[in-house]
Amino acid sequence: MGRIIGIDLGTTNSVAAIIEAGTTRVVENQEGSRLTPSVVAISKSGERLVGVLAKRQAVTNPHNTIFSVKRLIGRRFSDPEVQKAKQTLPYQIRESENGGVEVKMNDRWYRPEEISAMVLQKIKIDVSEKLGEEIKEAVITCPAYFDDSQRSATKVAGEIAGLEVKRLLPEPTAAALAYGLDKNINAKILVYDFGGGTFDISILEVGDQVIETRGVGGDTFLGGDDFDQRIMEFLIDWFKREEGIDLRGDALALQRLKESAERAKQELSTLFETEINLPFITSTPSGPKHFYYKLTRSQLEDLTRDLVERSISLVKQTLSEVNLKPEDIDEIILVGGQTRMPLIQEEVKKLFGKEPRKDINPDEVVAIGAAIQAGILQGEVREILLLDVVPLTLSIETLGGVAHPMIPKNTPIPYSKKEIFTTAEDNQTVVEIHVTQGERPLAQDNKTLARFLLDGIPPAPRGMPKIEVSFDIDQNGILTVTAIDQATQRSQSVKITNSVNLSKEEVERLKREAEEYATQDSEKRRLAEARNQADNLIYQSRKIINDFKDRINDELKSEIEAKIRQLEDVKNNSTRAEEIEAKIKEVNDLLSNIGRNFYQGQQNN
Ligand code: AMP
Repeated sequence: MGRIIGIDLGTTNSVAAIIEAGTTRVVENQEGSRLTPSVVAISKSGERLVGVLAKRQAVTNPHNTIFSVKRLIGRRFSDPEVQKAKQTLPYQIRESENGGVEVKMNDRWYRPEEISAMVLQKIKIDVSEKLGEEIKEAVITCPAYFDDSQRSATKVAGEIAGLEVKRLLPEPTAAALAYGLDKNINAKILVYDFGGGTFDISILEVGDQVIETRGVGGDTFLGGDDFDQRIMEFLIDWFKREEGIDLRGDALALQRLKESAERAKQELSTLFETEINLPFITSTPSGPKHFYYKLTRSQLEDLTRDLVERSISLVKQTLSEVNLKPEDIDEIILVGGQTRMPLIQEEVKKLFGKEPRKDINPDEVVAIGAAIQAGILQGEVREILLLDVVPLTLSIETLGGVAHPMIPKNTPIPYSKKEIFTTAEDNQTVVEIHVTQGERPLAQDNKTLARFLLDGIPPAPRGMPKIEVSFDIDQNGILTVTAIDQATQRSQSVKITNSVNLSKEEVERLKREAEEYATQDSEKRRLAEARNQADNLIYQSRKIINDFKDRINDELKSEIEAKIRQLEDVKNNSTRAEEIEAKIKEVNDLLSNIGRNFYQGQQNN
């Protein structure tokens, strides 16, 4: 078995971690960073950008930069969450043919799964290169409240990226695993997760070898980005008062301000004061304007206190929903980069009367938990059964449109349930199986997960045929419904990937496209690397010639100068990496000749 990686596929950032000789390690991406922004873009020059390169041009290229796609994945277009996201996200969103969602980048429409797959593919490639072995399997995390369709879509994103998803793990469970809390039997854990775009609360309970999700809450439209936005608005207003210039219309200035606002916010988690210094922020007929402001921690706290207070009141609400009080909670885990803010840590501590756990990097803790789960699957770490619960009741429609519960809300998974049903009319040869999700008594008021027909039932008086319907939910929370006519053993089954999700054929097609892109990508990367190496070598060689001009004979000097010019020429004009690499080798060989001459000279002296 190859190595399995743990991936926290976040709304704002994603992180990859592995387990190595029993310890966990976050793997850096190609840019040398431990976090990869979950952002994909087509640049103005038509290149696909993923990660920090995409994030850096987001404000200046808003219509072709896709972020927060996790808000849309596996959802129906009519979902209120999607409608809300549509109002705030700068890129275009429309309904797909099957009622799902599509987003537009450049002149093409993409499914959210495809966008997430691009982020996952970058992670797969970067980790494979870093470790020197191809990664093919992953444990991917998702929010505890993700329903069946969202989970399936996340799994599909992994498949498109060429990853076999061995397990989908709820994020709070991953955080608890990272802290080794699975060993604290009977402990109640509250995970307070303040990320870039969402605020999630989960209450977990650890039993003997199980971690069960007792309840979830939060606000999917509250996150670290709101803090950045508050700072930005404050700075823009200040600049307008000082200089009479409104920066709101200047995309480039806004991009720079946004980056600086986020940086200032992060710095103020450790410093009491920081500078926002943006020379040449804009220009006026009287010349360039510079932006300079000193922001203090207490100013930041005043600007954002209500956001923190809102999160605390949501914690109280979630606790009361599961009939718990703050003092019933044994451990509080902080997850998400925004929880580094001292005000948040203070308020959480005040509410619970105890220190929250924050010793593991809050933006890495979920990926670390995923790596531990990967370790369990690889047999490197002791086994523990991880329980997740069904977030909403799964039912089947029976006579009179009643939603008959098969698996009630909060049932731990994996779980199977069988029940016998019968026909409602005489000589009925076909039954329709309508599977719904939700708490309402009538099927039509719940969300339809699937409808399918079981036909070929022998004619018989109503009430006589016996149709066995089974609901099986696997470890990943993915449901399969099967109906069998006991007389004929005819059966029909569906794996609920929800009607909004991609078909198997579509997944295969996208997978092929992604593979093609990956090979194209690595060629492009090789070319960029060769050019970069050539640049360095040209600079270095010229410096050597200059520094040692008195010690290199003229013949060698003109030979190497000619070679440098040739290298410069192929670097600028060739699109074939191997051509540039061959020239690099020639220059390098000549340089070692110089070195050899020096040493021989020293020996002769
Ligand atoms: P995540 O989704 O967990 O990656 O969280 C990202 C959010 O955490 C972003 O809004 C970041 O600006 C924020 N963040 C990261 N580091 C810090 C820090 N040191 N102080 C405050 N917020 C931070």
